[in-house]
Amino acid sequence: MAGFYLHIPFCRKACHYCDFHFSTQLSKIDEMVAAMKQEIDSRASDWSDTVFETIYLGGGTPSLLGIDQLKDLIDHAYDKLAFSADLEFTLECNPEDITAERLSPVEGARREQTQHRHSVF
Ligand code: SF4
Repeated sequence: MAGFYLHIPFCRKACHYCDFHFSTQLSKIDEMVAAMKQEIDSRASDWSDTVFETIYLGGGTPSLLGIDQLKDLIDHAYDKLAFSADLEFTLECNPEDITAERLSPVEGARREQTQHRHSVF
């Protein structure tokens, strides 16, 4: 089973106990999204025979992405890679970030049969 993982390395503040890779420079998120799209482009041919069954956005705090940033990244992945019809989509969220609008890029994923599982931390 192939899973597609995107690490979103940003957090609002640094938790003193945390060993994950992250930055609190939120002004860099647009640059990171552009770099991740380039990385998807550069690796897409390696995965031309792969059908991903899961997408997992972890962090960091993926729910810090703006709605447009999240949609841009997800749509780009859908354009360049192949995903299963019963795709499982996981987005790690801060509870304070969860709104219907923020989750709309996930809920509005172009694959109607997509199953969603939202992890909250
Ligand atoms: S990844 Fe989680 S635990 Fe680590 S700094 Fe960010 S919010 Fe805190």
